Amino acid sequence: MTINFSDLQLSEPIQKAVKELGYLNPTPIQEKSIPHLLEGRDLLGCAQTGTGKTAAFALPILNKLSQLPVSRKKYHTKALILTPTRELAIQIHDNFVGYGKYLNLKSAVIFGGVSQGPQVQALSKGVDILIATPGRLLDLIDQRFLSLGDVEIFVLDEADRMLDMGFLQTIKDIIRMLPPKRQNLFFSATMPKDITQLANGLLKDPIKVEAATNSSTVDLIDQAVMYVDKDKKKSLLRHLLQDRDFNKVIVFTRTKHGANKVVEVLEKNKISAEAIHSNKSQNARQRSLENFRAGRCRVLVATDIAARGIDIDDISHVINYEVPNIAESYVHRIGRTARAGASGMAISFCDAEEKSFIRDIEKLIGKPIQVVSNHPYHSESIAKATLISSGKAKALIESSQNRRPGSRFPRRGKPKPKNSGQRFAQKGH
Ligand code: AMP
Repeated sequence: MTINFSDLQLSEPIQKAVKELGYLNPTPIQEKSIPHLLEGRDLLGCAQTGTGKTAAFALPILNKLSQLPVSRKKYHTKALILTPTRELAIQIHDNFVGYGKYLNLKSAVIFGGVSQGPQVQALSKGVDILIATPGRLLDLIDQRFLSLGDVEIFVLDEADRMLDMGFLQTIKDIIRMLPPKRQNLFFSATMPKDITQLANGLLKDPIKVEAATNSSTVDLIDQAVMYVDKDKKKSLLRHLLQDRDFNKVIVFTRTKHGANKVVEVLEKNKISAEAIHSNKSQNARQRSLENFRAGRCRVLVATDIAARGIDIDDISHVINYEVPNIAESYVHRIGRTARAGASGMAISFCDAEEKSFIRDIEKLIGKPIQVVSNHPYHSESIAKATLISSGKAKALIESSQNRRPGSRFPRRGKPKPKNSGQRFAQKGH
């Protein structure tokens, strides 16, 4: 049975705003979470951007706060949403503003990399909802421009990404400042052990909700892998961009440095491109996003963290200039295309060292990615190279000690290819 927003016990003004945004039915995570959140339950959500998770927490928060008497204490907030990046903070804030259009609630957003003056000003009369990145939040608390003493609802968004970015201690410090009686919501795309521990310490008898990235969205995306030597990736990118159908393209690189280098190459070839990553000022990042959104810039080159949560329609192609070593990142990345029911294409450039990452991704998405070889930089040797799982590889390496020279298996003592077969925390974004 299809559930409507009107079945969810949300107040009229919220339903009106949601309707105006064109939402017809709640997404699965909204349907599963909203009734429990309205009852005041804690929540553990295993979900990523693209599932509708922002509305899943924003709508009940707005509903609850709009029922409280209007009273704001200066430098206080009633709801706190902690999120890892500025882009996400701005996007979540925009969503709150949209969903709360017909309510008399005040929200603010704070993040680093910009002057704190306007943010302090926004907090000075008190707010109902505050969306913040951890560093700036702690900074303003230290300067006594904010107290968390009145927080009734706390949302920790993208917890796994926060930990990747080294925010664990900051988050623990922030949690310690919250009043004991409160509602807690915890969202993470993945649930490794350290995340589960953090959630256990925070949540009381939570309801658990899981929402994979909309697999039907992923199914709408044509996915291809191109085997290419590392030093030929630039040429392959230039080659593909000769096709004008590649009109709104996101290129993902692993590092900021890599992103800058790709932009340099494209600009040299008169292809408009801009990079977004954490070394760029907030203003520069917003400007690049706007240029890209408006079609003034054809290629946006981004690192995973900078691109997290980017919500831009009509992206024609996602290109993984480097294959992500974490399979879930692949799903995040390609989810940037095929938005709003449109189709899209995702192409991964895979060099010899990255082949095992492709295998991990195929396992996660449950199907093989089509190999496309009709391009001038195809590497047949990478395509043919067989993969051995790390356990088997070890056994083979050990047994190969007795092999004749010239054996096709790696010899003990030979340096392992960089990053092969192991996952590492992504740094340098
Ligand atoms: P999120 O996972 O919160 O980043 O949401 C992903 C996208 O889905 C955003 O563009 C939202 O505006 C949109 N969205 C959220 N909920 C709904 C819904 N119930 N119906 C249609 N679109 C939605």
